[in-house]
Amino acid sequence: MTTPTPRCPICKADVPPRAVNKAYPFCTNRCRLLDLSAWMNEEYVLSRPIDPTRDAEAIEAALRAGRPDETEIL
Ligand SMILES: [Zn+2]
Repeated sequence: MTTPTPRCPICKADVPPRAVNKAYPFCTNRCRLLDLSAWMNEEYVLSRPIDPTRDAEAIEAALRAGRPDETEIL
C-alpha cells in the first residue's frame, strides 16, 4: 500500500513530506500564508466582531515566521 502524494490545497502542486516541509500540508510557506490570509479574510467578512489589530498582528507574525530573510526590511 502506498500513500498518495498530498496535493497543495492552494496551487495543487505535490507537497513534500512533512519531515522536510515546515509548511505541510501546503507545498511552501507561500501557499500556507495565502491560505491563512484567505481564511482570515473570510472570517472577517462572515462572522465575528473584528479586532483589526489582532488580525494584522497575526498575519504579520506569520509573514515574519515564514520569511525570515525579509525580516530585516520591515
Ligand atoms: Zn502550493
